[in-house]
Amino acid sequence: MTTTVRHPEKAHKPDNPVRLAKPEWIRVKAPVSAEYNETRRLMRALKLNTVCEEAACPNIGECWKQKHATIMILGAVCTRACTFCNVATGRPDQLDPHEPERVAEALGKLGLSHVVVTSVDRDDLDDGGAEHFARTIRAIRAAAPGTTIEVLTPDFLRKEGALEVVVAARPDVYNHNLETVPRLYGEVRPGARYFHSVRLLDRVKELAPDMFTKSGIMVGLGETREEVAQVMDDLRSAGVDFITIGQYLQPTPKHHVVDRFVPPDEFAAYAAMARSKGFLMVSASPLTRSSHHAGEDFARLREARRIQLAAVG
Ligand code: SF4
Repeated sequence: MTTTVRHPEKAHKPDNPVRLAKPEWIRVKAPVSAEYNETRRLMRALKLNTVCEEAACPNIGECWKQKHATIMILGAVCTRACTFCNVATGRPDQLDPHEPERVAEALGKLGLSHVVVTSVDRDDLDDGGAEHFARTIRAIRAAAPGTTIEVLTPDFLRKEGALEVVVAARPDVYNHNLETVPRLYGEVRPGARYFHSVRLLDRVKELAPDMFTKSGIMVGLGETREEVAQVMDDLRSAGVDFITIGQYLQPTPKHHVVDRFVPPDEFAAYAAMARSKGFLMVSASPLTRSSHHAGEDFARLREARRIQLAAVG
């Protein structure tokens, strides 16, 4: 159940008028296909939320045509108030103990070989929802043992031991997004701490060195090229394998403004920079999102590691 005011903490704030028109490289087609409608029907029937819809992702037409939906667990209401995010905020939903089984059922019906599961932030729960993540991973494994699983988790800030519970459930990919450069955390991700997020990714590698780790940022929020380079270095210091970089889009006038639309050639330059810093995989383009093409990217990630290991003997 969602609250009536979608973002109560932003309601009293002045509008940030949309200043910049979307350039042609950011425009996407309206989501119309039989498969899109089928994916939507399935999510409604099983009472599941997706980040594709809740975050107003521009790729939904393309992804859902291929039945690639990213399910968002732990309810539809987030306890944080990030200024970039369109997910509803406020009083969180009651935890649904049967959600993990319904996620497994949905993913079985979608017939995906690789799935991405994410969640809202649940600062109200003692473990931040970690055990629910672990139960969801186990339910998918039981229902579809051949399916690889990627989790995109919150930061579990001040939830001692939470990360360990998720890692122990052995997802194939552990993703946690930094979202932006440290200087902008106060205005973009006020409830989070940059170095806590970097440390979380570092800790995943300590606990499970063979688990792929992944993180992403948005650009166009006011960051500089030097700051993006520093984020890349911080992620590499934490052993992160895969970086995603995409254009920030302003979901409503109450959200953070788009500082600029980064042109495709600058994304190509970021991709080259990231490769030079040693990431196994890089995805950088205006419409890159952390779960976009996640299945194909996972296959390439595995292959890149195989080649790397073969090269060191
Ligand atoms: S890119 Fe990710 S969030 Fe966006 S529609 Fe595709 S699967 Fe959903």
